[in-house]
Amino acid sequence: MNLYLRHQNVSPQACPALVLNADYRPLSYYPLSLWCWQDAIKAVFLDRVNIVSEYDRTVKSPSFEIRIPSVVSLKEYVRPSRHPAFTRFNVFLRDRFSCQYCGQQDELTFDHVIPRSKGGATTWDNVVAACSCCNLKKGNRLPHEAHMTPAQMPYQPTISDLHRNGRLFPPNHLHESWMDYLYWDTVLEP
Ligand SMILES: [Zn+2]
Repeated sequence: MNLYLRHQNVSPQACPALVLNADYRPLSYYPLSLWCWQDAIKAVFLDRVNIVSEYDRTVKSPSFEIRIPSVVSLKEYVRPSRHPAFTRFNVFLRDRFSCQYCGQQDELTFDHVIPRSKGGATTWDNVVAACSCCNLKKGNRLPHEAHMTPAQMPYQPTISDLHRNGRLFPPNHLHESWMDYLYWDTVLEP
């Protein structure tokens, strides 16, 4: 039980709301869909969300007092896009933030499996996460020339592929009221 958040003197900034889609699944796992308390309360007043769970912490204005929502769900279902955007972040997420040549997780860069100089495109099918060391080592060579083959060949992921990987990287803080909607193997801090 996180007693800290039970105190009224905790900053409202420490009370983000987990945002669920209308099907009660998080809008996004990684980064986890969270709203600051102001946005959560605004959405409540605009009737865009249902309050699923609340913090004990309240905020007051001259005319009302409201408990800060800890979990909200959208009233209208947002259909997730089937194909995630091709971004650096999403490539790293697909590759679980690890170099596809040596497995290390630091200094990640974009590597073109077939180098651009040899006609390789900047697409899901040809780009992998690689540490700067491996990227440099591979240089402008083809995988067989460099004897460097990605652990996982690049592919176009689905949103659920990225969600699955995102769940491997839970944020540092998870409020107890979020746990019913997340399925991380994480022990809450005392
Ligand atoms: Zn590497």
